[in-house]
Amino acid sequence: MKTVYLDNNATTSVAPEALDAMLPFLRQRYGNPSSMHAFGGLVARDLQRAREQAAALIGADPSEILFTSCGTESDSTAIRSALEVNPGRRHIVTTRVEHPAVLTLCQWLGDHGYKVTELPVDGNGMLDLAEVERAVKADTAIVSVMWANNETGVLFPVERIAEMCRERGILFHTDAVQAVGKIPMDMRRNRIDMLSFSGHKLHAPKGVAVLYVRRGTRFAPFLIGGHQEHGRRAGTENVASIVALGRACELAAQGLEAENTRVRALRDRLEAELLRRIPDARLNGHPRARLPNTTNLSFEFVEGEAILLHLDQAGICASSGSACTSGSLEPSHVLRAMGVPFTFAHGSVRLSLSRYSTDADVDAVLAALPPIIERLRAISPFSRTRMPSAARLAPDPAHKH
Ligand SMILES: *Cc1c(COP(=O)(O)O)cnc(C)c1O
Repeated sequence: MKTVYLDNNATTSVAPEALDAMLPFLRQRYGNPSSMHAFGGLVARDLQRAREQAAALIGADPSEILFTSCGTESDSTAIRSALEVNPGRRHIVTTRVEHPAVLTLCQWLGDHGYKVTELPVDGNGMLDLAEVERAVKADTAIVSVMWANNETGVLFPVERIAEMCRERGILFHTDAVQAVGKIPMDMRRNRIDMLSFSGHKLHAPKGVAVLYVRRGTRFAPFLIGGHQEHGRRAGTENVASIVALGRACELAAQGLEAENTRVRALRDRLEAELLRRIPDARLNGHPRARLPNTTNLSFEFVEGEAILLHLDQAGICASSGSACTSGSLEPSHVLRAMGVPFTFAHGSVRLSLSRYSTDADVDAVLAALPPIIERLRAISPFSRTRMPSAARLAPDPAHKH
């Protein structure tokens, strides 16, 4: 059975071209780019080329690109740097729907002497610029707001938030791990100070990522040691993966147009047909301000995990908006922040496409999912036919804390 992979917001396949580009550095060209001899030293040129390719994808200067080990490291570096260069400022502004790479770090910082404001979102998962404006204070060190949400694909107005922060002299960072390579961006035309993205979300290998740091931004390194990355990130470079990331960035730049036409059309067909064929279903997320590759749908009275297991048996990889925390299945923090009604929040499924997705992949989901939902509803203790309407409005029994 062929795997239908529609979980590209979790991770992506390595592009064949990116794999080809990295292999020589795992075989014969294993030198250290910091070495004095040509065998190693020549590798520095390949690193520089990758830096140029990564910069080109986001309209940055190569000197503004720092290679890190993962999106999480990029996010941590940016936020901790902002706190270190602003020792007098103890306040952080972020949102309730950030990836754990930002949110859990901010909560940890909140337990260690910092004040954290987590901004709410509306029912479409959208953030109000005016809310950000109201939240910033004289002692705000950094505002960190994601560009695109990994669960819903909702796009935040980060360029306008960056503008507002710049006017007030506050550093702005965006976790753009889901946005880079999917929507066009040009750092020469905005005021974002720092931006994170990760290789394995755009068809490069896992374990390599980028932190963009705008020229002139005050910066303190996270990893301290050798002089690599101009002293901004110590540690011998992950050469092979960085070369692959560079190539993947080049491919993403070439594929941006297709992402926004062909992939978007596939996603739109998948979404529209599922909503048409399955009753009591809803879209989670903003209908327009959204990534071209992501759809997050909820099916009332069924458990997301059950849907995933059945899809898995049909060879389809997807993901749900629930997380098993403290032994009970909780709707994700993103769906909770959006106020998705509980009978819907438990039955959410995220389908995320890539440029390798096909019409056949969409057809496979359209054939498999409607009967799965029908079967699960037939045995659901919460289904409409089994539950009087008053009980459906009662508080969620699983939602105790
Ligand atoms: C995947 C992801 C991350 C984490 O990136 P890693 O490279 O896996 O550490 C951070 N933010 C968002 C929005 C993501 O989707």
